[in-house]
Order: sequence, then C-alpha cells, then structure tokens
Amino acid sequence: MAELRPVSRERGGLRLFTVFGIEIRLDFSVVIIFGLIVYSLAVGLFPQWHPEWAPAVSWGTAFIAGIIFFASLLAHELSHSLTARRFGIRVPRITLFLFGGVAEIESEAETPGAEFTIAIAGPLMSAALGLAFTFIVSVSLGEQTLGQILERPEQTMAGLSPVMTACIWLGSVNMMLALFNLIPGFPLDGGRVFRALIWRLTGEHLLATRMASTAGKWFGWSIMGLGFWNLLVLKSLGGLWLVLIGWFLSHLATASYSQLLTQRSLRTLRVGDVMRTRFDHVPADVSVENFIENYLLRSSQLLWPVIDQGSVLGTLSFSEASAVPVAERPRRLVTDVMSKLGTARVIDADAMASSALTALLQAGDEPVAVVSGAKVVGLIRGSDILRWIMLHQDQNISA
Ligand SMILES: [Zn+2]
Repeated sequence: MAELRPVSRERGGLRLFTVFGIEIRLDFSVVIIFGLIVYSLAVGLFPQWHPEWAPAVSWGTAFIAGIIFFASLLAHELSHSLTARRFGIRVPRITLFLFGGVAEIESEAETPGAEFTIAIAGPLMSAALGLAFTFIVSVSLGEQTLGQILERPEQTMAGLSPVMTACIWLGSVNMMLALFNLIPGFPLDGGRVFRALIWRLTGEHLLATRMASTAGKWFGWSIMGLGFWNLLVLKSLGGLWLVLIGWFLSHLATASYSQLLTQRSLRTLRVGDVMRTRFDHVPADVSVENFIENYLLRSSQLLWPVIDQGSVLGTLSFSEASAVPVAERPRRLVTDVMSKLGTARVIDADAMASSALTALLQAGDEPVAVVSGAKVVGLIRGSDILRWIMLHQDQNISA
C-alpha cells in the first residue's frame, strides 16, 4: 500500500533505520502480528508438515521466516517509494504496521501514468519475491520434487529441510500478497491501478477516486461478509480476521476519499485566508512580569507581536515568557526574551495552507506569526487550519 499522508501527526512506534534516505518505522501493532505469524507457523503449519521436527526447530524456522516475511513487506513498500521518487515525489518514511506497510508519499501523482506505475510497483515486487522463493525451492530440489509436492504434498513436504520449508511458505505468502493487493478497491494498490485507468479514460481525477473508493468499500464489506459466514456458518474463528480486515479496508476506503477532498479544498487556500486576524500587541517597554500578569493571563492569545512605535520588533510566545525565572521577571523587558522578527519562525501570508499545515503540526501546533512584507498581519496554528476544514465540510463534499 502507498498512502498519501500530508498530515502525519502521530509518530508512534519505533524508528528502525534509514535506507535510500527513507526512514523505516515499526508500529507496535507489528509485534502482535509478528507473534501471531510465528506462533501459527511454529505450532500449526510446520508441525503439520513435519511431525518429526523438535519444537526448537519449528520455532526457529518460524521466527526466521517471520523476519523475512516482514523484510518482504518492506521490499514491497520500498518498491512503491523508489518508483514514486523517480516521478519526483518525496517519500520521507515507511511504517510497517498491523496489516502490512504504508509508504508515506508527500503528494499525489500528477499523471495517470505515474499513478499506475507507482501503484503496480509494489505488487510486482511481491510477485517477483514469490517467484524467487519458489525458484530457490525448484532449483535445489529439481523439478521432479516440485512436481511431487503438487501430487503428494504431505509426504514430499515431510522430507524438506527447514530452509526449503520456509522458502515454500515465503513464496506462497508473497504471491498471495501480490494478488491481495491487486484487488481493485481503493486504497489497495489494485484500487490505485483502477483509479489510474479511470482517470486516464475520463480525465477526471475526482470521479476516478470516487469510483475506486466505492469499489474499495464494496470489497471491504464483501470480506466482512465472508468473515461472518466463516464465523457463523462454518464456525471457524479465522473468520474474525476477515471481519477485522474487511472493516479496516472499508474504513480506509472512506477515509482516503475524504482526505483527498480535504486536500483539494486546501489546494487553493492560502495562510492569509485562515489566519487569526484579531490579536493584540505588547509594547516594547513592558516588563516580562507585567506582560504575564496583564497581557498573557488576560487573553487566550499564545503568541504576542512586540511593537515599538507601530513597527513590529519580534514575537513573544507563552513558552518564551514562562521560561523566564519568576525572580527575574520584573527586571527583564519583553524585548530581552522575545524572538526578533528576523530570527523568529514566521509564515508568509501567501503560503499555501496545505504545506503550512504539515509544517505547523510537525512543530507541535505552536502558534506562528504570519507576515506580509515586514508586518505581522496575523497568527496561525495548525489547528486553525483544521478548524477551517471543519467549518467548511459542505464545501469539501461538493468540491
Ligand atoms: Zn502496495
């Protein structure tokens, strides 16, 4: 899966390493799924194939196969990411989580061709890995044995070494991964391929997204239905997984569509349109104590432009003022502790709201002064932009 994530607020999980300049993170939910995979291999599948294996052999093989499985997921996401980069789209990080991985791409593909290529790159990698693992097995066993596996699976499987057993499993899960991802429901890769084709045919990006996400919802519901059927009719607990995956996919399909709408409505919006314009100043000759007692505590404003004879010298924030020790506050002026305008973090009123949103939220939602020329014309926080989105929902839906 490759997902557009212009707003990444949560930075949960563990940072693993950086490869090709892309940060690889591990969501903690992976620990659960990794445990489940290793457990089901070590206790379920491997003993079924190899009743003679000692538990240590089963667990060891399962553990290594589990690690290689996650490396395969990573290869899938890297394949999306490196392809996206060839089209000039930045990919800051990949997060592996419960249902696989997500490559966070920073902007939408600009052409249907680019979208198609980026989307198909992941499943192609999985299919290639699936073939590679199967190839390893067939080379080391010879075609005869591979034929025997298909004819008399149980006896032949029993004779395989741990390495070959892991390769057979890895070959089939990578193939399944490729096929599953090719199902044409957004936001699965197949949904993106589907969207690219509709986009190419109609020239309508929004229509294509709507169709692909509707297909994604249907697909999610079908999987949930299949899960309930498994649970209730076949009395198989495995159905629970399907219900969970189906619910998750239908939820993602809806969420990624509304995310696109939000992004589109932000596309023409500038910081000047959403900033707060009702704000007060503090004169330069006020002490920090006076500022805290008579300005900061009398208002909900968190960032204050400091002015001297009508011109702005800098900005003073809640945290800058509160960092001054109480005893020093009467002696020090606001100009001593403020950030001077040249060095303070400011945003231009003409900047796009969408890029400002990412920057503001990454900086922890601190307010920032909005400038036009050398003048402070407003104040803004990331949540102000989110508030604007909330207050313009109707417009987003009809966009
Ligand atoms: Zn993918």
